[in-house]
Amino acid sequence: MAVTAVATKKLFINGTWTDGAGDQRLQVLNPATEEVIAEVPQATPADVEAAVSAARRAFDEGPWPSMSPAERGKILAAFADELSRRRAELVELNITEAGSTRMLAEFLQVGTPIDHFHDLVHRVLPQFPFEQPTPPIYGNGIGQGIVVREPYGVAALITAFNFPFLLNLAKVGPALAAGCTVVLKCSPYTPLEALVLGEIAETVGLPPGVLNIVTGDVDAGETLTRHPGVDIVSFTGSDTVGRKVYAQGAESIKKVVLELGGKSANILLDDTDLDRAMESVLGGFITHAGQGCALQTRILVHESLHDELVARVTGTLGFITVGDPSDPATMMGPLIREVQRQRVESLINAALDEGAQLAYGGKRPAHLERGFFIEPTLFTGVDNKMRIAQEEVFGPVAVVIPFRDDDEAVRIANDSRYGLAGGVWSKDPLRAAAVARRLRTGMVVINGGGGGLNPAAPFGGYKHSGIGREFGEFGLSEYLQHKALQWPVG
Ligand code: NAD
Repeated sequence: MAVTAVATKKLFINGTWTDGAGDQRLQVLNPATEEVIAEVPQATPADVEAAVSAARRAFDEGPWPSMSPAERGKILAAFADELSRRRAELVELNITEAGSTRMLAEFLQVGTPIDHFHDLVHRVLPQFPFEQPTPPIYGNGIGQGIVVREPYGVAALITAFNFPFLLNLAKVGPALAAGCTVVLKCSPYTPLEALVLGEIAETVGLPPGVLNIVTGDVDAGETLTRHPGVDIVSFTGSDTVGRKVYAQGAESIKKVVLELGGKSANILLDDTDLDRAMESVLGGFITHAGQGCALQTRILVHESLHDELVARVTGTLGFITVGDPSDPATMMGPLIREVQRQRVESLINAALDEGAQLAYGGKRPAHLERGFFIEPTLFTGVDNKMRIAQEEVFGPVAVVIPFRDDDEAVRIANDSRYGLAGGVWSKDPLRAAAVARRLRTGMVVINGGGGGLNPAAPFGGYKHSGIGREFGEFGLSEYLQHKALQWPVG
């Protein structure tokens, strides 16, 4: 299948499209058909060097960082409009390269990040306190002053494959709004949605070097995060790679923002209305075939509801249509690559070896010969110490773990190296909130609230799920330095 949405499948460096210094290409696959849909250059360290130099020049000598937020806002408003204009193409691209179902692509993958970009430009940026007076201070040195927030510098943005467009925009938007210049290195699996941003940068007249896009993998990412010309790194990906990125950035004392994995718990207290909770329980592990960092793949259920919950979930999974993600009737698409499917299968086997009971799924769907599909899978009889309860599977696999009381639910939920998200269900919202406050995670959904991503709510994790926040004013703040200017009073 030809992909037409992006015309220029090259590197975007200093405002021009280039084949790069090397002759290696990355093949982009449609994960539902295994067909090669495009090829892009595999960026070499020399290409990354060129991209960082361009971003450095644009920051040190160009107009972008010293423009007023309102001036930058005008260009970014045009950028936002262009994103909206190209929304339908982006949806098709997302289905084709990320394997997203049509509904997911329309909303969470493409629609939501475009809405967030508009929100950033039209709500957050105009009211953000870039310059804030400090009150007079009395003491040894009498002074008063202002706090000025300045762009952090050259930003290296590295993203994962699962929500490629959302992740790219969640970094590129606030970095540009802050006045940083950018080198974006997208996932090698999903470069096409990133390259569209280069086309839009050209269309709206972003100054050359302000946004650079390199398509590549480990070499490019490593060169970028070690490069002394980069001031801040924002990384989304696994905690395994995040740890390396943190160390690579430490060599030149970069600021490093990390948005990493999760193993979140959905807690169903004893008074949960199961009719209401079912959508969240199922969505918590089959959404995008389980390839979501904030999915709630550990289902913690009060022991009195355990059997009924398991019966309801296994009874419903048979109606989940798995297959061609471009078909609007499909409810679950493929995993991104064969290597990911094999990892999911190895964790399913580990769960069986450790004594977990397979309540549903666990195999490749018999009716699909091509594509990296796997059945939705549910385990019961799981101890929270098992690998299947501790490791991020990144496939459509959930575990059900019963608990006796609220304290035990909190203890099991927090018994994880991750701390990204979570859910709590109860007919008593105050009781649910009390449990939510005890969870060591960055985000908790109470009774299914906030079923999309709220642009004003911070997104990010505790513990091994990361450092820093994205979205809204929280995301914008990450790309700013705080400088103090002080005068004598009078
Ligand atoms: P990954 O860690 O394998 O790769 C992420 C990116 O890092 C890719 O662009 C890759 O090319 C690059 N990379 C690899 N080695 C590198 C190195 N040494 N230095 C610099 N860059 C390097 O992750 P993935 O498989 O693409 O994505 C899945 C992971 O992302 C899951 O763990 C998921 O939970 C996480 N994720 C987190 C969030 C969040 O906001 N917290 C959102 C989406 C995905």
